[in-house]
Amino acid sequence: MTEKGKVFIVSGPSGSGKSTVLREVFSRRDHIWFSVSATTRAPRPGEEEGVDYFFMDRDRFEKMIRDGQFLEHAQFVGNYYGTPAGPVMEHLEAGDDVVLDIEIVGAAQVREKLPEAVSVFIQPPSMEELEHRLRKRSTETEEKIIGRLERARREFAERDKYDHVVINDDFVRAAGEFIEIMDREKAKTCPGCEKE
Ligand code: ADP
Ligand code: 5GP
Repeated sequence: MTEKGKVFIVSGPSGSGKSTVLREVFSRRDHIWFSVSATTRAPRPGEEEGVDYFFMDRDRFEKMIRDGQFLEHAQFVGNYYGTPAGPVMEHLEAGDDVVLDIEIVGAAQVREKLPEAVSVFIQPPSMEELEHRLRKRSTETEEKIIGRLERARREFAERDKYDHVVINDDFVRAAGEFIEIMDREKAKTCPGCEKE
């Protein structure tokens, strides 16, 4: 019997390594789907339309808000980000686990709408290491890096609202811990499903 999938919310300060850890998780697990968000931020080199994000202007994003197309949405350091609801629901119905890489305001909206969702906070080993990683990534202007570091302090303060905290010291280890969390959470509601 196919059990409906589970939603895993993943948050953490920008630069903590969410994308890196999740890439490793996805390479090691089947029946798991990454929710592709809409955003008004510009694509980074290497990012692909429909794979990393659906990139759009503010008018189109605001029309999607008005049309009720988002499961959640929020603003983050000057840009809109949102999760299109339709594909999430389709994948859950099909029995896939769904991973949402979203910030804290959106995470609160999802908890409200889908109380059975499991939330995981990816934490960097220290603020110094976070700053180092953000700068090393070289994808943001200095102004945006400062904005993201300020925002990181707010995100740290929300950590206790999450079901699990994973420290991303070594991303392969952190991914292993994430997979163990997924297995434990799935075993709670669907014994045996973690082995599928
Ligand atoms: P996020 O998705 O949380 O914004 P990224 O996955 O883009 O963060 O990671 C930010 C930067 O830190 C990237 O340059 C990435 O290669 C690096 N990074 C991620 N995890 C680790 C780690 N465990 N150790 C060292 N560097 C890391
Ligand atoms: P980035 O610009 O680094 O890709 O993402 C910035 C922040 O936006 C990250 O904290 C990421 O988790 C968050 N984010 C990405 N997509 C969404 C989304 O659909 N909704 C919300 N609320 N946050 C998102």
